[in-house]
Amino acid sequence: MEGQYVGIDLGGTNIRLGLVNKDGKVTDLTYLSTKEYSSWDGLLTELTSIIKGIKADRIKAVGIALAGGVLISKGVMSYSPHIEWLNGVPVTKSLEDSINLPVWMDNDANAITYGEWIYGAGKGFSSIICLTLGSGVGGGIIINRNLYRGEDGLGGEIGHMCVQPDGRACRCGKRGCLEAYSSGSALSKIYRESKQNRELNYQLNPVQIYEKAIAGEKLARDVFDTFGEHLGIAIANLVNVFSIHHYIITGGVSRAWELFFDSLENALEANLFNPHKGRVKVFKGQLGDKAGVMGIARMAKDYLKSKIQ
Ligand SMILES: [Zn+2]
Repeated sequence: MEGQYVGIDLGGTNIRLGLVNKDGKVTDLTYLSTKEYSSWDGLLTELTSIIKGIKADRIKAVGIALAGGVLISKGVMSYSPHIEWLNGVPVTKSLEDSINLPVWMDNDANAITYGEWIYGAGKGFSSIICLTLGSGVGGGIIINRNLYRGEDGLGGEIGHMCVQPDGRACRCGKRGCLEAYSSGSALSKIYRESKQNRELNYQLNPVQIYEKAIAGEKLARDVFDTFGEHLGIAIANLVNVFSIHHYIITGGVSRAWELFFDSLENALEANLFNPHKGRVKVFKGQLGDKAGVMGIARMAKDYLKSKIQ
């Protein structure tokens, strides 16, 4: 009988855990709130008890995807911008010791990219780039059927590509990053800082701005135009460097697709190197919020077969 794999997607807000079979079908899906935990030890105890409680014939390995920088060769979380207590934690070893199963760890955007590539919108392509639009912007790059991580595992940080020199401040400390324009938190900030809303003492969330745009409010529509325009510039830069023609956009804010796609396409075509014009396809992700769980579980499987390292 084929083994099954557990995928854990540990983000700054939510934790998702599920059992994934060989076809990518997810069962036993459990949701936890990251805010409920104040240490890795506390979360490790909970994850261990959930995994041990899953009624599966044979769990062969566990994958864990984390938001931030991961030192895969050492199994250590090296940079955790959203969960301070994860900094420097030897996640792989402590989880392996606790559940007595092999563990593969990776960055969450890499896991989402891998999931969409194997099971979702990227199926069948040898090279894709995936952008995840949530409160920040994550990215993952598959080149010639391999995940590209860069020299130190920090490759694919597309959110910090400069799309506007001397532009808006980004939380990374630089200016003009994609994340400062095309993320959920950027939508709220740009909307709040507009002339009409400067007096407001509260900030609308991306869903509320989406609703205003759908209802026809010009300001909300303009904010989504800016969002799409910078995304288009970033994708054009990626095409010009990698000559990769297939892109996937996923994450919570991708649900506002109809509000930013036209401005994305216009900026993309305007900024492409001529030979690429008319050849780039941008798809919406197909796996929703299960992409990370599916991708990291599949990575654990491929790790066991030594297909990835
Ligand atoms: Zn930045």
